[in-house]
Amino acid sequence: MLLVGKRGEKLTEVSGDDTKRLILAFGREGGSTFARRNAKLVVETTQNAGHWFFCTCNQDRDTLLVPYEYAYVHRRINSSNSHHHDCPFAIDPLRQLAVVRSMRPHPPEKAFNILSAFASDRGAQEEDRTARTNTVRRSKLARVLVALAESSGLQKQTSVATSISEQFNLVAKQAEKYKLAGDVPLKPMLCKYPPKLTEFLRDFDENARRFTWPKGSREHGILLLKALCVENGSLVFSNQVRVPVAGPIAIFGRDDAPRRKDRPYLAIGLIAKQSQSSPPEVIRAYVHPCYSHDNLMLVDSNYERETFKYLSTIQAEYSGRLDFEIEKPLSDVGKRFEQAEDAIPERDNQEIEARGAPPILIPDFILRFGKGDQHAGDFFVETMGFRSSIYRAVKRRVVPEMAQALGGLEWVEHDFHFPRDKTPQQRHENFRTDVRSKLADLMRKRSIR
Ligand SMILES: [Zn+2]
Repeated sequence: MLLVGKRGEKLTEVSGDDTKRLILAFGREGGSTFARRNAKLVVETTQNAGHWFFCTCNQDRDTLLVPYEYAYVHRRINSSNSHHHDCPFAIDPLRQLAVVRSMRPHPPEKAFNILSAFASDRGAQEEDRTARTNTVRRSKLARVLVALAESSGLQKQTSVATSISEQFNLVAKQAEKYKLAGDVPLKPMLCKYPPKLTEFLRDFDENARRFTWPKGSREHGILLLKALCVENGSLVFSNQVRVPVAGPIAIFGRDDAPRRKDRPYLAIGLIAKQSQSSPPEVIRAYVHPCYSHDNLMLVDSNYERETFKYLSTIQAEYSGRLDFEIEKPLSDVGKRFEQAEDAIPERDNQEIEARGAPPILIPDFILRFGKGDQHAGDFFVETMGFRSSIYRAVKRRVVPEMAQALGGLEWVEHDFHFPRDKTPQQRHENFRTDVRSKLADLMRKRSIR
């Protein structure tokens, strides 16, 4: 909700229509010339009255949008007083585009280029701040983990079980496909067994020297592990083996989502020297929660864990009659702004001016029923984990766009809070009924008994 007026005086509510205009013009997925023209009158009137807009997405009602030049608004925020991360005004359209781009799949032919030379590491530092919300770019280190996880099949569960050591080995094996920087392959610079890290660090220089590192980059390696937890700046591999991380450890997850501390993480560390003269060490890390100790599939929240649990049970129940794959995507499935990282500022601006910035489109789960023509019947599942109206508004807008980006798929929602007159158990039951009825439809179409 937006309020308008003078700070300290009585504020009035901005009408629904005007709020919509402002969101389309200045919200994260807005910014088109048409939308800005449409919002000009609202901004102009407000500025003429000497008023500001106040966003109520965070309790304190002091998150400001300040009109200027009778046509635009400034976001006035500081770290202690920012928009809720689901708020349409949380970031501006250009930043939104950068966030979406960072979540697109990494093309295997391109090197990751995580680390710059000593003098110019500011960009990397900034990117690594955190992986917590949908308002921050996915860090380059996180992109490596996502690429390995997605290409290994870790994010797809068939009715045939895979052990976690097989899962881990498949993820590590993907290193063969990727380049770290320039033409430096990832595989020889990968340590996938923490008890051998000391050895890896000892041989680091000798190992790195075998390759030609591109100008502007620094020699680096990757550590990959299943971590039991994160404790005192270390990744805990086992009771005996802990890996200290010199810099920040970013843990994936929304601040407002319930977590399971007893579940493992898939962790990735960046190995490099902090300065010319210092020894190589793990300088930062990114960790992503796994489903369980028996399944390393990366999940985003405890809500998704619960949804996956039901889907998994149903998958086992139908196994042999109607086999399907449960996929948990980690990358944006949007098609606009095709190129993943090669931003060309003029083209970006033109595209935003024409159609606004793209939304983040990452479906929670996709159920896939076969390849080729057999994919008819595929549908996706959205976990409605939070109650807040601001979160619901995002889902209402984004889910149909996801469906479209996936080629017109239907979807089922797993709602943890609605209908209000039902118990949580009944809501879960509703979800299972919805999924089963989709499966029944498909079996009828395929004449399966
Ligand atoms: Zn807000």
